[in-house]
Amino acid sequence: TLHDRLAATFRDLRGKGRLSDADIDATAREIRVALLEADVALPVVKAFIAAVKERARGAEVSQALNPAQQVVKIVNDELVRILGGETRRLRFAKNPPTVVMLAGLQGAGKTTLAGKLALWLREQGHQPLLVAADLQRPNAVNQLQVVGERAGVSVYAPEPGNGVGDPVAVARGSLEHARAKQYDVVVVDTAGRLGIDADLMQQAADIRDAVQPDEVLFVLDAMIGQDAVVTAQAFLDGVGFDGVVLTKLDGDARGGAALSVAQLTGRSVMFASNGEKLQDFDVFHPERMASRILGMGDVLTLIEQAEKTFDAEQSAKMAGKLQSGEDFTLDDFLAQMQAVRKMGSFGKILGMLPGMGQFREQIDNLDERELDRVTAIIQSMTPAERAAPKILNGSRRARIARGSGTKVSDVNGLVDRFAEAQKMMRSLAGGGGMPGMPGMPG
Ligand code: GDP
Ligand code: MG
Repeated sequence: TLHDRLAATFRDLRGKGRLSDADIDATAREIRVALLEADVALPVVKAFIAAVKERARGAEVSQALNPAQQVVKIVNDELVRILGGETRRLRFAKNPPTVVMLAGLQGAGKTTLAGKLALWLREQGHQPLLVAADLQRPNAVNQLQVVGERAGVSVYAPEPGNGVGDPVAVARGSLEHARAKQYDVVVVDTAGRLGIDADLMQQAADIRDAVQPDEVLFVLDAMIGQDAVVTAQAFLDGVGFDGVVLTKLDGDARGGAALSVAQLTGRSVMFASNGEKLQDFDVFHPERMASRILGMGDVLTLIEQAEKTFDAEQSAKMAGKLQSGEDFTLDDFLAQMQAVRKMGSFGKILGMLPGMGQFREQIDNLDERELDRVTAIIQSMTPAERAAPKILNGSRRARIARGSGTKVSDVNGLVDRFAEAQKMMRSLAGGGGMPGMPGMPG
């Protein structure tokens, strides 16, 4: 999966002090394959990779993040940017009613969305009116009426027994009705076809001309993958649209369609549907979609916390030390532990890092009281002892135990664990160091 691929890539990068061109290229290759597998369209993948490479090369080496985290952040930032940054809000007309028209293929979720939008608008104090301008399928009007009833809003539909209805006339009539009855938002449901065809586009364009919508929303089934690009382009050319609504995000689609359409059409994704019920609906959140595409939500949360909390100077000092092959001391050990503690629960934080699975057991066995004890012991040592724990003979250990209110066996345990951590840090330093990573007691 995408997550596995990226995790593997970032595991390879872990331990490098600086992003080299080779690192960036290797990472870019993995991300490229992964995005293609997530159904992102090829031209979008190319543009995306180019942007990420450029940013990675130009990026100052972060003091707060290790190189692996830094690459994840660059990839994520770029995804969020393309997905539209801040969510765009629905534009309301100065003179009501605001007209929202829904367009998209049959089965995309337009009629369901009409109900969701109506409920959402009603909850915000609006008086929406749903308009049944899909007269293509026998049951379409009835379906909208059911949805409207559930949402508790009125539906404007052709009179029954009116023969074959004219959707353009219905749409036009709905505006007069809305003005007369003081509805302030009109949501026009339209017909779709299974594929793109000229009649469908013409009908949608005629409805658009009749109602002059403030917003045309293109409704897109997130599950259609690569076809999203062709469909979106056809609707952009045939009807035009201002925003995109992604539906069926409760399925296992990885979100590649969102990235493709946002990039190729330059239109923001505005809403997201994630289920058949009226409540399964929200404004679109680019960060959430980015982490869905990356499959690394937890890691992104961690990066945010790390950036906020980490003492950059401390980290830089550590990186320099590891790179120069200087020894990892008990002072470093303590500083790292305190930095990590500031970030939150030790185990939770470390467990989120890719590649940290191997330390899982140690992490799980470490509790907060243990951290307090370790801190007290180290603080009871002299600077010379912290720098060179080798000099810790029996009488020094006894003094430290007294000073820290612990037992000599606790001091011995810490010295042993530190020796292990030191060994680990040395082996990492062989690969260039791992700035920002804590020493690992336990
Ligand atoms: P339309 O042809 O564009 O009007 O699409 P419909 O609103 O009739 O929806 C087609 C099918 O998709 C229906 O069975 C809906 O219940 C279902 N559907 C719509 N939106 C979602 C969604 O977000 N998630 C899921 N799982 N199903 C949806
Ligand atoms: Mg429909």
